[in-house]
Amino acid sequence: MSRYSLMVLLLLSQLAIAQTPPFVKFNDRDSEYLRRIHRPDRAPLKSDKVSPGRWTRWQRQARSKLEELLGLAQIAEDCRGHQVTVGMSVAKKENGFTRQLHVIETEPGIQIPFWVLKPDDYQVSPRPLAICAQGHGGNSWNNYAGIFHSEDEKEKADARKATPGLEAVKRGYVTIVPAVRGLATVASIADPKGRHGDQPCRAQLVHCLLAGRTAIGERVWDCQRILDWAFATLENIDRRRILFTGNSGGGVLTVYMAALDRRITVAAPSCSFTSYTSSTGFVFHCDCCLIPRVQSELGDLSDIGALIAPRYLIAVHGKQDSLHHLPDVENAMQRVQKVYQKTGVAGHFSYRWGDAGHKFYPELMWPWIERSFEEIQK
Ligand SMILES: [Zn+2]
Repeated sequence: MSRYSLMVLLLLSQLAIAQTPPFVKFNDRDSEYLRRIHRPDRAPLKSDKVSPGRWTRWQRQARSKLEELLGLAQIAEDCRGHQVTVGMSVAKKENGFTRQLHVIETEPGIQIPFWVLKPDDYQVSPRPLAICAQGHGGNSWNNYAGIFHSEDEKEKADARKATPGLEAVKRGYVTIVPAVRGLATVASIADPKGRHGDQPCRAQLVHCLLAGRTAIGERVWDCQRILDWAFATLENIDRRRILFTGNSGGGVLTVYMAALDRRITVAAPSCSFTSYTSSTGFVFHCDCCLIPRVQSELGDLSDIGALIAPRYLIAVHGKQDSLHHLPDVENAMQRVQKVYQKTGVAGHFSYRWGDAGHKFYPELMWPWIERSFEEIQK
């Protein structure tokens, strides 16, 4: 294809995006107000403003600001002197792998269960480690690891390909599937009188905000403690090949975890990685993903994603995903792409579109992940 036809195609696709109706429409008053308060140009740490040669400095500053906004220092302060402990049950043999339940006390009195799945032959050669984080859905962390309460639950999980832990272990990964705080029933706090809408994740958020934390901050804290334990304890892990993935709320967590924790070498957020707000000011993610002041003191979620560079990042989306909006996702992805291009690692980032809705697309993400790990091993 000639350069000219490529440019025409690009312009046409941009035009098609621009002509797509907005995700939601607000009345004139609300619209004006939302555009004004969510306007992107006020973000002091947005990636567009970074001049060549300043990427490392920018990432350091933005990471530090993100840690502050997530309330991680407050959580650390609240946990001062706490000794993280991990208990485990007996491993159970499955077809080609073992599955073992663990429980980690990440802060005093807070016990987070997680599954560890190991391929039968994991001791033959160093293995990549996959951490698969659930989204909303009280039991979905169990589903991710291949545990189902009923046939109906299994059918639903299979239809949404919501068993990434099983997929990972069958591909030879040592795999961790944690219960995520506020998302898994077993790791949620009560909402007496339904004060927070009978939604555990909102109850978690409100308590966190009052206490100088965020729900995402707690989730990052838990996953980092699990990663500490994995690095210290699990045998035969190749530390160059650490994957973090999740769909929906688990995908949002994937972006934050990979942005902050450089032990993660490949990140694969699914149906989640978009801007905080649509072009008309609609907030895409669940309340529990809220980071106070992030737009006014840091930037957009696409800027957070750019903190993953130069490490590998594949974002997968669904064209029919009713929670997200294709043009807004495209804009966010193009912002991330620019950072990867400017930092000379364009090939380390990709985003793909599945044809269906809000679900995993294993056929899009796994080949890319495995190619990335092959490159890392070269
Ligand atoms: Zn939520």
